[in-house]
Amino acid sequence: MRAVILSIGSELMRGDIVDTNAAYLSRELSALGFEVSRVGAYPDVLEELTAAVSEAMRCADVTVTTGGLGPTQDDLTRDAIALAVGEDMYFDEELFREIEQRFALLRRNMPESNRRQALLIPSAQSIANPHGSAPGWWVTSYGAIVVAMPGPPKEMQPMWHEEVVPRLQNLLPGHLAMVSLVTFGLGESAVEERIADVIGGHPNVTVATYAKESGVQVHISARADTPGAAQELVKETESRVRGLLGKAVFGHADDTLSSIVGETLKARRATLAVMESASGGDLASLITNNPGSSEYFLGGVVAYTRDAKSAFGVDAETMDLHGLISPETALSMAAAARTRLGAAVGLGVTGIAGGDSVEGHPPGTCFVALDLPGCQMVREIHRPASREVAKRFFAQSALDLLRRNASSIESTGT
Ligand code: AMP
Ligand code: MG
Repeated sequence: MRAVILSIGSELMRGDIVDTNAAYLSRELSALGFEVSRVGAYPDVLEELTAAVSEAMRCADVTVTTGGLGPTQDDLTRDAIALAVGEDMYFDEELFREIEQRFALLRRNMPESNRRQALLIPSAQSIANPHGSAPGWWVTSYGAIVVAMPGPPKEMQPMWHEEVVPRLQNLLPGHLAMVSLVTFGLGESAVEERIADVIGGHPNVTVATYAKESGVQVHISARADTPGAAQELVKETESRVRGLLGKAVFGHADDTLSSIVGETLKARRATLAVMESASGGDLASLITNNPGSSEYFLGGVVAYTRDAKSAFGVDAETMDLHGLISPETALSMAAAARTRLGAAVGLGVTGIAGGDSVEGHPPGTCFVALDLPGCQMVREIHRPASREVAKRFFAQSALDLLRRNASSIESTGT
């Protein structure tokens, strides 16, 4: 089945926003087994939109649009679809009440302009939008399907997953099963290289890699005559991928390094303290992104200067002898954080995120260290990038070091 993606909004023409919706939907549609034959971006101009929708409907089984469903006069996606399929829009009372209810729940007055969002055509069913006021449209006409979704990714993505994907799956032959693995520590090309034999190794299985800031993801999907057979194909592929990627795999789709570390520490009733320099607080920030982190995270300090490190217990001689950016100082920071706060596990991060070289280390160099009773580990990291990206990567690397050595953490549980 062929799919076309249309991104709608004049702000895309001006470069005010980046078209992340198209990238997201291309990945999603491909993973579902669609062949995405075209991706296009269009301004809020009725004639252009109408022509684009008509053309897409001619060459694709499914056309997916995002944007242009807002309440204002420049939001023209509904009008364009109505013209493309040759139907008149009508005001749907029931849909209007649903939109009104949403405003009532938020205790906001509904502007008159939102009435536009209650318009439908006979071939369209509305798609619920729990995260915004604009309902989507599911249109079936002349054997083609048009799915119109709102532009904001926070509204579009939940609508896609909860409402659209289940309907699309019904269109495809057979049953689909899928799983996503998350990895850290290998680049996308390295992941691809290692699993090359699995990618394209089976006609009914799709394996694709996606580089995300949080690490490289591996999406596995399979289609088969029965749900059980599809699951079985996915399971087999997953175990091959895990075998090839080893410890780089840290979990499934929604897992983060922080959530995995959290589970590990909670299971062992172990606590964590950190001292970070180069990551500037990103490590503590990542750790506390995980709900329930108060159960195991005691706290940390951002010790940026030599004096600050010294004040929080980092060994002065170590810093003088080896430098501030050194494995030894990273280890001393981890140990100081752990002992000062009486934690079971300490993490230390020292390095140089960007700018000029420091102590002979090029920007992007970092040492992350782990300190536990009877276990000291340090890893050298290189990530030349913007300061923001480098800092985040250093913090992730510290969590990764802890995750990979979780078995060394003794359970203090009762
Ligand atoms: P809409 O009112 O539905 O046209 O979209 C409103 C907002 O959604 C835009 O101002 C953007 O912030 C966001 N948005 C729209 N289209 C896209 C897109 N293709 N990729 C990412 N964000 C988008
Ligand atoms: Mg718009």
